[in-house]
Amino acid sequence: MRMMQNIEKIQANYEKIEKAILMLQSELESEYLDALIETMDNLLDDKKVHVENGKPTEKVAKELEQLYVEVSLEELTAEQKRQLLQLLILKSYSVEKIQANHQMTPDTIGILVSYLIQKFAQNKNKIEILDLGVGTANLLSTVMNRIHDKEVHGYGVDNDDTLLALASISTELQQSNIELYHQDALDDLMIPDVDFVVSDLPVGYYPLDERAQQFETHNEKGHSFAHYLLIERAMQKLKEDGLGVFVVPKGMFEKENAMNLLKYIQKQGHLQSLLNLPTDLFSNKNSMKSILVIQKKGPKAKQAKEVLVGEIPSFKQRKEFSDFLTEIDRWVNSSIKL
Ligand code: SAM
Repeated sequence: MRMMQNIEKIQANYEKIEKAILMLQSELESEYLDALIETMDNLLDDKKVHVENGKPTEKVAKELEQLYVEVSLEELTAEQKRQLLQLLILKSYSVEKIQANHQMTPDTIGILVSYLIQKFAQNKNKIEILDLGVGTANLLSTVMNRIHDKEVHGYGVDNDDTLLALASISTELQQSNIELYHQDALDDLMIPDVDFVVSDLPVGYYPLDERAQQFETHNEKGHSFAHYLLIERAMQKLKEDGLGVFVVPKGMFEKENAMNLLKYIQKQGHLQSLLNLPTDLFSNKNSMKSILVIQKKGPKAKQAKEVLVGEIPSFKQRKEFSDFLTEIDRWVNSSIKL
């Protein structure tokens, strides 16, 4: 019953905001995503309509303000606000094509990453988490919203201004304890070392060869892989014994040049787990992903006797999935020390 009321609250707000976005989009003749950002900015700015060069007109601005009055974000929890924003961003994907590397990390993946972080952090009372490609901040917020028993501080870096605008709306809306940095994560970072890095890594070539040369995981010939370099950057930003949980392409270590990355990981840390995400989460074989867990070397970290590898069962297979979570608990307790 309570769950139903929660869904209804999100739904009611969604419908009103969606109507306001469409009205603004048509008035500004803009992309849906831009109208979404402008609408959320207006809502956060005490529901005042931002007017530029006479647009929206006074008449439309009044209509928008009337719609905004009906929006009641204050009755939503931070997690419900995240879900509401997630629905609006998903709607934008149905009207505009977004390249895979820029897509928000869905809850199905975020909740698994978050489960791992909760288990790893179980004996800590204060943690810092960094996302090197924070995008809309959906993954980082999913992880942080599920940690209730300790102080959490988040850092998010991204080099895409539209996505970072969404991240900024998301963190302001949820009043999350996240600092955002608009920059290339492979450039110098003014962020302290952290306990955990979580990142749904962009996949493909990194265009700046000169900068890539500063990383051990660069390719000898041609462009280097952005996801390799970002794993190296993550290892640099982790405290000793810290853990990186990365969403990576399935079969990543079977690719050419992967040996170089593997050597780097083994030099700096321990590859503790590589789990393939359930295949039914992906519409095509080439976009399938895995979760990679690396622990940085330190006084407590040890190579897990049993590297956790394999397939994560589908969420629909309830018994298998629940057994899998029990297996994770057992593995973390026996193999991960920090
Ligand atoms: N987890 C994010 C979310 O929930 O919205 C989505 C991550 S998306 C798959 C990968 C992100 O990496 C994109 O937002 C992209 O802009 C960012 N990215 C790609 N190259 C980057 C770089 N060199 N520095 C920082 N961010 C980068």
